[in-house]
Amino acid sequence: MEVGVGGTLVLDGRPLHGATGAGGEFGHLPFGDPGLRCPCGASGCWDLEVDGRAIARHLGDPPPRDPRTYAEQALARAPADPAVRDAVGRAATRLGRGLAGLINALDPAVVTLGGLAQPLRAAAEPEFSAALADGLMRFRRPAPPPVLPAALGRDGALHGAVVTGLDHVLTEDGLTAWAALRSST
Ligand SMILES: [Zn+2]
Repeated sequence: MEVGVGGTLVLDGRPLHGATGAGGEFGHLPFGDPGLRCPCGASGCWDLEVDGRAIARHLGDPPPRDPRTYAEQALARAPADPAVRDAVGRAATRLGRGLAGLINALDPAVVTLGGLAQPLRAAAEPEFSAALADGLMRFRRPAPPPVLPAALGRDGALHGAVVTGLDHVLTEDGLTAWAALRSST
């Protein structure tokens, strides 16, 4: 089962894990509603705004036992169901806003989205992009870092890279993929 947002900040090809090895808990940045308690013990975690639990909450459904499967089903239903599309759009908005915060703070060269983050973005690209742009500091807007699908896509976690919904990667592979994408457009 996969819930929420994980991440890795990679600097000069090396992941940064923090002083105790527990860094990268981006899903527990308090970007969410302080009235919501996260299973981690904190309140207002970003996780609670961007995964299947958020979509279920917006639709008035009980918290799903398997948020990933719930989210995948919601993404599949979204094009034909305006209520689901709206709920997905709200989650994509929170994904974009949170990402803007990370970009403002970390100034990455490139951001890659893994797990369900990329399908969520794709299902509600206008909301995602608007929220991302709106959350960026003005000086960053003319040349924001590219936000690209991770090479391993939604199965990235299964490949043991990181248990993640969202990676921040400055690896050689990531930059190569970015260059390829740029040259193909
Ligand atoms: Zn939390």
